[in-house]
Amino acid sequence: MSISTALRDTICSLIEQFWLPGACLLCAGGAREALCPACLAELPEQQPGAEVLAADAEGGPLQGRLFAATFERSEREREEATRERPAVTESGTGITALTLWRYVEPADRVVLAFKYGGHATVARLWAARVAGRLPAVDALIAMPMHRTRLAERGENPAAVMARALRPLLPGRPPLLAATKTRLTARQQGLDREGRLANVAGAYRVDADLRGRHVLLVDDVLTTGASLLALAAAARAAGAAAVHAVAMARAAP
Ligand SMILES: [Zn+2]
Repeated sequence: MSISTALRDTICSLIEQFWLPGACLLCAGGAREALCPACLAELPEQQPGAEVLAADAEGGPLQGRLFAATFERSEREREEATRERPAVTESGTGITALTLWRYVEPADRVVLAFKYGGHATVARLWAARVAGRLPAVDALIAMPMHRTRLAERGENPAAVMARALRPLLPGRPPLLAATKTRLTARQQGLDREGRLANVAGAYRVDADLRGRHVLLVDDVLTTGASLLALAAAARAAGAAAVHAVAMARAAP
């Protein structure tokens, strides 16, 4: 970190600490982040945190299944993880996904405040807690919204998250664009098969990803259908490895 960067960060944190005290989203008490330390400690974290969204060999990337797994921190852990899920790592169709919280009370209220209440500070709080747990990547891609939905919402929450995360990752990997090519029905209310069919082939990545390790960013992970469909688009653009990170994990 350069001296000027360190100085800027110090000044920013002093401003936040003394000049712009915020209110905790959950208890409305004083908070320097989106939440006060007590409420933050109450949020149910997803354990072990990372999992593999896999695909059946015969069904391609749209037959998603979930496996418990962790990001491999050491050579030994990597070997153990590969033994646990060899089909995933060899087929190249699985993606490792890290989520921070379980999408249950009160974390769901925090996520909804972020997605629909315009509380972008939640993205910074989330990013600071996941950045150090992610694998090294060359590019970020935020889960895109169809232009019609984006016009309704004004802002894509996944893009807000990606922008908060980017400066915290080694090398500040570029944020590349993906396109939602057709308007799909809302995923809420659909079962897993319905969700997979709903988003199949709905994404496109125009950037050249050949040889690159890519991190997909999404807000809430449920069945992983959207992430698998976006991962397929990233692979079609040449990505060598695809990982994902989300704010919260909802029970499928
Ligand atoms: Zn609080």
